[in-house]
Amino acid sequence: MKIAVLPGDGIGTEIVDEAVKVLEVLDLKVELEFADVGGMAYDKHGHPLPEATLKLAKEADAILFGAVGDWKYDKLERQFRPEQAILGLRRNLGLFANFRPAICYEQLTHASSLKPELVAGLDILIIRELTGDIYFGQPRGRRAAPDGAFQGAEEAFDTMRYARPEIERIAHVAFQAARKRNRKVTSVDKANVLETFQFWKDVVTEVGQQYADVKLDHMYVDNAAMQLVKSPKSFDVVVTGNMFGDILSDEAAMLTGSIGMLPSASLNAANQGLYEPSHGSAPDIAGKGVANPLATILSAAMMLRFSLNQPAAADRIESAVKDVLSQGLRTADIWSEGTRKVGTREMGDAVVAAITTKTITKS
Ligand code: NAD
Repeated sequence: MKIAVLPGDGIGTEIVDEAVKVLEVLDLKVELEFADVGGMAYDKHGHPLPEATLKLAKEADAILFGAVGDWKYDKLERQFRPEQAILGLRRNLGLFANFRPAICYEQLTHASSLKPELVAGLDILIIRELTGDIYFGQPRGRRAAPDGAFQGAEEAFDTMRYARPEIERIAHVAFQAARKRNRKVTSVDKANVLETFQFWKDVVTEVGQQYADVKLDHMYVDNAAMQLVKSPKSFDVVVTGNMFGDILSDEAAMLTGSIGMLPSASLNAANQGLYEPSHGSAPDIAGKGVANPLATILSAAMMLRFSLNQPAAADRIESAVKDVLSQGLRTADIWSEGTRKVGTREMGDAVVAAITTKTITKS
């Protein structure tokens, strides 16, 4: 098995280092190959997703990704901006299904901005369609408005579109995921206003007829945003389009206390996947050794489970993360009175130690 490791920019290298340490202690038969991506790849090779990186990503069974981006690249032409590397990987590998679990660990209930009773035991899964919708729809651009009240004025426009097979495949992913959980899917749309999302709702309903054992309900995105903070535990699996998913998954992230805790997976039809923390490159704390590496470590666990068929190894990582939280270790983003503040490396070392201790105890 080969894993392409793409640390990227900002805190990317710091957090990926810790995930690599954890993978290495598991002593799996995996080969790790590193490559440049994002702003640092642009600086070195003139492109955020160099040919060699894309080739490696395509050949690998899975990709472990850190983060890309920095304000200093904001003035570059769009095609050279670091974030284009992620879009390029998604497009080239057909990574259409984005899994964003939002789990509130018992030990971190107080780190959430919501009341503890609302988030204690929270375990929801947001499945976001990742390769369609208004983010990729053509045409798009700037022009003189061809009609309307502002005819002739400069305007910008994008195109929201979804084809039936695109909706069908993400709906199947959601129903199948729900079967392994609490058998409930909430499809989020804006069918009351948008034609694209009336179609989305119709197609998801049709697919749902093949999953009589899974309860399906539909919710408008504005209501979903409200319900996520009002009664987050009422959700199980949420499935939605690219743009709504982008927004709702970050909202769900904050329910759990810190974006530094949240892993994500983006899969294609062959189960090849890109695994990355839900957060960005955090330039404000880069190089300080304070970033929380747990989202990346948990992303590595998702990678072992979904793409590398190593569920036992994934369990060992997840259980080690719970152990270090129970020991009271916290990076600054999840620190609270009475717990011990640690840096990125110390947190990674503690996860490695928790895995090693359990291995020794078992044998
Ligand atoms: P961000 O997620 O990088 O940071 C938001 C806030 O969360 C910051 O205060 C940061 O310090 C904090 N934070 C993030 N990760 C953390 C961690 N592991 N531990 C502790 N604190 C953490 O979002 P942003 O500031 O809006 O964006 C910064 C850069 O990242 C931009 O260039 C943006 O385009 C890019 N970005 C990249 C990705 C990606 O690589 N997938 C995703 C989102 C944003």
